[in-house]
This record gives sequence, structure tokens and C-alpha cells, in this order.
Amino acid sequence: MTDELFKDDAYVSEFEAEITSVDGDYVTLGGTAFYPGGGGQVCDTGIIGGVKVVEVKEADGEIVHKVPGHRFSVGDRIWCSVDWDRRYDLMKGHTAEHLLFNSLHRQDPELNIVKIFISPESKYVIVDRDIGWDKISVAVRFANKVILENHSVRRSVMSKDDPDISKIRVKLDRIEEDEISVVEIEDVDLAACCGIHVMETEEIGAIFVSKKTSAGRDGVEIHFEIGEKAVDESMSLATSCLSIIDGLGSKPSDIERTISNMKHELESCKRMLKESTISMIRTLKPVNIRGIDVYAGIFHTSDRSVLTDAAERYKEDGAVAAFIGVGDNLTVLLASGDKRVDCKKLISETLSEFGGRGGGKPDFAQGGVADTAMKERILESLMKGIEHSL
Ligand SMILES: [Zn+2]
Repeated sequence: MTDELFKDDAYVSEFEAEITSVDGDYVTLGGTAFYPGGGGQVCDTGIIGGVKVVEVKEADGEIVHKVPGHRFSVGDRIWCSVDWDRRYDLMKGHTAEHLLFNSLHRQDPELNIVKIFISPESKYVIVDRDIGWDKISVAVRFANKVILENHSVRRSVMSKDDPDISKIRVKLDRIEEDEISVVEIEDVDLAACCGIHVMETEEIGAIFVSKKTSAGRDGVEIHFEIGEKAVDESMSLATSCLSIIDGLGSKPSDIERTISNMKHELESCKRMLKESTISMIRTLKPVNIRGIDVYAGIFHTSDRSVLTDAAERYKEDGAVAAFIGVGDNLTVLLASGDKRVDCKKLISETLSEFGGRGGGKPDFAQGGVADTAMKERILESLMKGIEHSL
């Protein structure tokens, strides 16, 4: 079995080792400081005997290094070096995650971790339920306080039967081994974790939650940054927010009220626009073409349902309706209660002339055109088509 140097000392990055087996691109060493990944932390990379290590993994109790292009033989003694900047970033990220979740969990004891992901590019924890920014903010402040206070971090091994096991954040049914690797952040947190951590919280520098996104059925992803990246990200976000607040003519202390008022106003404008479109459609005067009423109009709305409902109603009465809704692009609807007007054919022919597309059924068809300036010409063309059909 490979001697796992990273377990005794996470700070060993350069070491000498003997090649104990070679299998194509893969080699094993007598002892290694390369972490094969685990606990959500991705594996290390680096150099072995001057050749790049692109992947490290665990296979049959051995730690296997993928070293494409190597020419090693069993028994060779070689100098190895883990990409330390990368590994140190992962160690800090992993420790920071413990601090963050500790506070989130204390605020919401029902909250569970679904997955942890710690890589150089992205660091996040997936939790099984949504959690508000108020709680996240408390957690970030708590974690930064613990970072500043500089608590020590210690790794130990605990038996599954140890009575103290109940103090650990751990799901026993998930643990298969008899011994559990436990990480203790002095006076703050005790968690089961097989990842690699720093020795003192001060090393993390800072932590900042940069975004929260949906993880689908799994729950919610809480992304965070550490160290300089955390400071950079928080400053750049704060600057964007201040610029937006300024653009809205508000003040940081008033912004939540300003946004809430704007949302309210927007909803009420939408409602008013909808009501006015409905009343405009109701008062439309039809053109009578050879005994058939044809209702046609252009409306400033992107609410397709208002137009659809009205067109369906006119169709039921045996009339024809040709409506255009103007939003970011044009919505074109055609409905007919008279079989002579083939809506599907007419709409697809007409809209293709204007660079748009449409489809549907003979009695009801719809489509869209990107160029809103074409609205009058499209309606004119549809009217000609209707007239020709009747
Ligand atoms: Zn950990």
C-alpha cells in the first residue's frame, strides 16, 4: 500500500520516492504527497521525475499517478513535486467550506450537505434546501471572524463506536469504514472529512459567498471564493451594486425599498396594459368582406394569451381575426371561423416573406417576426390574403 504522506503532513510538497509499479501511463510510488482527491476535493497535479502528473486516483488501495510520456521503471528513485499553489488553494477552500457550513447548519439544523466541490476554478457546496441571503450573510461573517481569530485545525481518526461520535457533523449510515477521519477546528467545528485542510484558519485569508444557483432536484449550490479572490470578488460586486443603485437614483440604505416599489409598479403597469389591450380588442370594428367579419389590429403587448383568447372568441363567432402583438419582436396570430381561410398556409407564406416563421392549424395559426418595423406591412399582406380567400 502506498504510504500516504499527505495524511501525516499536508504541507509536504516536495519528496523523493521509489517507483513501485508501472502500468502504461500509470505509476505507483512507495510513498506520495499527491492527494488522490476525495471529500469533494479534486486530486493534486504536479511533476514526477520531470514529467507532468495529470491525474491522481485511488485504485485497489494504491494511489496511482497518471504520468503520460514517462520512461520510469520499477525501482527508479525520483524527485516529486506537487503543484503547491494549486493544492494550498484547495486546502484553504476545504477548510473554509467547514466554517461556512457550520454556521449555515446552526441557523438551519434541517439543512444537509448533498455535495461538496473544491477545485481551483470553482468551490461550492450543494445543500438540500434553499437558504436565504440573510442566513448566508451571517455565515460569511462568522467564517471570516473565525479566520481572523486564527483557530487551529487538527485531523484525527475516530472509531465508529466512539461515544463522542455524536458530536460530529456526520451521517453514520453513510460511513462504511470502522475508522472515521475527523477534522476539528478548535472550539468551532467537528466534522467527518477525508479532505486535506490547513493547520490554522488564518491561512484562508477571507471567504465570500459569490453566488447561489439552483442545483435542480439536488437543491441549491452555494458558491464561494477564498483569499484574494474573495476580496476581489466582493469588491467588484459591491462596486457593480453601487453603480446600479446610483443608476436607479436610489441610495444603498433605500435600495431594497426602491426595488420593491419598482417591482410593484411594473406589475401594476403590466396589469393596466393587459386590461387596456383587452378593452381595445373588445371595441375593434370589423371590416366586412363578402359577408364575413374580419377583426384586425396591432397591439403593443407581448402577452400572447390576451390576443389568443380574443382571436379564439372571434373564431367561435364565425369571424376572422388577424392580430399582431408588438414587444421585443412581433407575435402574429390568425384565427378563422370560415373554412375558406387557411390560417396555417396564409401565416407561413406571409411571415416567410418578412423573415419570420409560423405554423398551426387551418383554423388557428401563429408565428413571429423579429423586425418590429414590419408590423403594418404584415397586417396589410394578411388582409390581402384573407380577402383573396373569401
Ligand atoms: Zn474537509
